[in-house]
Amino acid sequence: MKIQVNNYIFPNIFPNKNSTRRNTTACITFQKLSSDTVSFKAKQKPIYDLRLIPDITCACCGVTTIQNREIDSFMEKEIYFPANEAIKIIEASGVFNKKKLTDSQYEAYKFCKLLSKLYENQTLSNILDREAVREKLQTLPKDVRVNIKDIELMTKRVYHNSKYMVDAMSKFEQRMNKSEKEVFQILKENAQRYPEQSFTEIFNNPSIYTVNLKKIELEQGKILWEADQIAEKLNPKSKRKVHSMLVNAYNILIKEDASVKNKRTRIIQTFDNAEKLIPEKELYQEIKDKINQLPSSKNNASAFIVKYRDNNPNEIAKRLLIGSASTIEHVKPQKRINDPGENDIKNYIVLCSNCNSERAQIPYDEFIKLHKDMPQNAQKYFDTVIKYINNGQLQGYDKYPHQIKKAVEKESAGKIILDYSKLNLIEAEKNRKYMEKNK
Ligand SMILES: [Zn+2]
Repeated sequence: MKIQVNNYIFPNIFPNKNSTRRNTTACITFQKLSSDTVSFKAKQKPIYDLRLIPDITCACCGVTTIQNREIDSFMEKEIYFPANEAIKIIEASGVFNKKKLTDSQYEAYKFCKLLSKLYENQTLSNILDREAVREKLQTLPKDVRVNIKDIELMTKRVYHNSKYMVDAMSKFEQRMNKSEKEVFQILKENAQRYPEQSFTEIFNNPSIYTVNLKKIELEQGKILWEADQIAEKLNPKSKRKVHSMLVNAYNILIKEDASVKNKRTRIIQTFDNAEKLIPEKELYQEIKDKINQLPSSKNNASAFIVKYRDNNPNEIAKRLLIGSASTIEHVKPQKRINDPGENDIKNYIVLCSNCNSERAQIPYDEFIKLHKDMPQNAQKYFDTVIKYINNGQLQGYDKYPHQIKKAVEKESAGKIILDYSKLNLIEAEKNRKYMEKNK
């Protein structure tokens, strides 16, 4: 593994020795590692969770999903540095200078340093998760433990250059979502030109950042203008209302600083909230559909670059993968007021993480307008599930095909009709018995 000593000042997240206030930017919480129990080491092991089907595709956009544990294991083994190397790099940046540290910070550093020597070539997170280490941690004073957590975060921020990163990540390229793939393409091209730059530096390269910011602004302007054209057909009072909301949206998007987050969500909310005030339901729905097309970091490469340009290279890498993570979606949304969907297999479908968060509670017959290929992709997903039921591997799902066919048909108002004629439960039973015998 090639180590690059970071060529920018390493971000020190220890609170200042002389101040009692903790540095809030340091308190980033990282997603907990997911713990799955099923292993694919042996061929033909039973699968109980739809997300763990190896080649499962998103029922909406059709991308072949990436499992969360694949992402976690990739980050642990190939992106984050082992503790011994990470600590050396942080030492070189001067963060661990004894004069700058409080006693408990220094004690935390010494403890981590010792661990990094005891358990070579493992990340600090992995080491701290060992049972023996966890027991030892309990005997340390609380402020030392807090400082150890800070050091753990620091080690996760030590990064490789872009050349290393694109090489390591290229095995996931085919499974990245459309816009993430586009971003990865940009990173790949630039890693060739500037191999020593980091992902963050590439995003902030003026020729990339400015160009992409301009691209989004053009796209946003176009969408607002088109929404305004639809609003022309409303009665004068509704037209005035929608027009002023569009001007407000324009101010949020173009005039507010580019670093302000969640602008799109705020705008969509304003339009949702005003629904009661506009009597022309169909036209207003058209306007809302238009507003939903505003670029987001989940469906637009430029928006991704602008949103994540301040993030650490390792977080950018994780973001590029996590959009395709396989997640369980409730066909009939659980949070639907008055008529919530059940939290049960018969209401489950697999979507990639991006489609899942985009869908939220939109009924499928609405959602389908944004994803015209959904009927074909839902069938492709269904075929894979049926294949695994037939080969006896997917257990407890014999009734699933006809249950989910019914649920999807209802939720999509008949726009998605699934075909389960390939389901063969006799073959499934035969294969299960065979697997049982050869265990
Ligand atoms: Zn998807």
